[in-house]
Amino acid sequence: MTSPETQLVWLRRDLRLADNAAICSALAAAQRLQPAFVFDTEILDALPDPADRVEFIWHALAELDLNFGAGRLVDRQARSGPRTGPADRQRGRRPRVHAAADYEPAAIERDDVGRQLAGQDTALVLVRDHALTEPGSLLTQAGKPYTVFTPYLRRWNEQIGQNGFDTLACPLQERLLPGSPAPMPTLQSLGFVPTNLTGLPIALGESGGAQQLAEFAGRIGQYQALRNFPAAVGPSYLSVHLRFGTVSIRQAAQMAWQTLQADRAAAEGARTWLNELAWRDFYFHILQQFPEVCTQAFRADMRAVRWEDDDAAFAAWCAGRTGYPLVDAAMAQINRTGYMHNRLRMVVASFLTKDLGIHWQRGERYFADKLNDFDLSANNGGWQWAASTGCDAQPYFRIFNPVSQSEKFDPRGRFIRRYLPQLAALSDKEIHAPWKVDTARLAACGITLGRHYPRPIVDHASARKRTLARFGAGAS
Ligand code: FAD
Repeated sequence: MTSPETQLVWLRRDLRLADNAAICSALAAAQRLQPAFVFDTEILDALPDPADRVEFIWHALAELDLNFGAGRLVDRQARSGPRTGPADRQRGRRPRVHAAADYEPAAIERDDVGRQLAGQDTALVLVRDHALTEPGSLLTQAGKPYTVFTPYLRRWNEQIGQNGFDTLACPLQERLLPGSPAPMPTLQSLGFVPTNLTGLPIALGESGGAQQLAEFAGRIGQYQALRNFPAAVGPSYLSVHLRFGTVSIRQAAQMAWQTLQADRAAAEGARTWLNELAWRDFYFHILQQFPEVCTQAFRADMRAVRWEDDDAAFAAWCAGRTGYPLVDAAMAQINRTGYMHNRLRMVVASFLTKDLGIHWQRGERYFADKLNDFDLSANNGGWQWAASTGCDAQPYFRIFNPVSQSEKFDPRGRFIRRYLPQLAALSDKEIHAPWKVDTARLAACGITLGRHYPRPIVDHASARKRTLARFGAGAS
């Protein structure tokens, strides 16, 4: 049933036309709609400048603006959402705002405030778009939220098996209200200097997301074999597109699901990749059910762990100057590109919390500032997993050895050489632990430790003992 009501679509982290749940919701309720995006000043003001993340959003909006028909996308700089105009009410229309539900506590609060500000005659219709399953909807047989991934995944697969990943079709043509006279604000007017995204070598906007998804579809069969090797093109690199919805999670999952059904050779890769999308849903679900994880350890018995307050070690970790090549190359990757490979996120998070004994929340905040794909639920889940404080986390006595991780996952030092060219002349064997190489050989490779590359800031074997004692004492 359609009606003549004004239907506003408030785009947030769903910056695309295709398979967009909020757009479909609006079109199911009325013939015509008005799309809007709000540059939330509270979020922008807290970001460093330049910010590739803002630039990514800006490009996605510029493409949407063109696709909607220039000027039809209303942009505002404000807090707490778009408002429908008084003219709508004078014409007797009951305005409605359709948006994709967001599960972060600040977003939930914003939507509550938005509802109050918009007035009682405006309805905010929230629909599921970011998650494949509604957070909080999958419960154990006892009716409790899952806190362990494997049984959650079993239930998730049953649910998916029943419903598949149906995408939504809602033709937009001729159904947009006339445009606003205001042009898109420039990045400069938002207070940001354009960088032309030199640090972010990925295709932009909805069209870029579609290209990236198609490219990954061609190699998803090798995902399982390659995904742990940071020098290889193994993962999808879709995270920033999934973060801002320039790729639909349903379309991405549908691609993997169809590969799983139709292509036996690629099925293992597709299944493993779908499991990663299930982790994404799992952390949405944890955040929605246990929002207290934002400020404290999920596990109550881990809240008493006493962390080190070592600012110099933290600064060395941030700058990629720990003396452990894989850790430093990984930190160079995040600092230069705003992305870090998943294996390396685990390695550097383990190093910060278990080798340096520094609180996971400091690393979590650093990632939140640096990652273009920063997502509160996945970031918090990943940090609490690595720090052994989270639900279904790595046990505290499993401590990654940064040298063995390097030998195993970057065996030829290709990733290390890419980000630490000063170590390039070392052999594939030597490059993982330069301090073990004798001085003459280092000199022949043009390296003086402490000058061209730091000595290790911590001894892994001793740090390991301290960590076992710290957790043994803190966790009872
Ligand atoms: P792919 O391997 O191709 O995975 C596909 C998609 O699945 C990802 O884009 C992501 O949406 C999802 N995904 C994969 N692994 C995970 C996971 N472990 N948890 C949740 N979702 C996952 N991911 C973020 O999107 N934002 C973050 O802020 C973030 N912070 C992290 C912090 C730490 C300490 C750790 C260990 C992991 C973090 N992750 C985060 C998860 C994961 O590292 C990234 O999703 C992945 O590296 C993104 O690259 P990709 O798209 O090429 O991954």
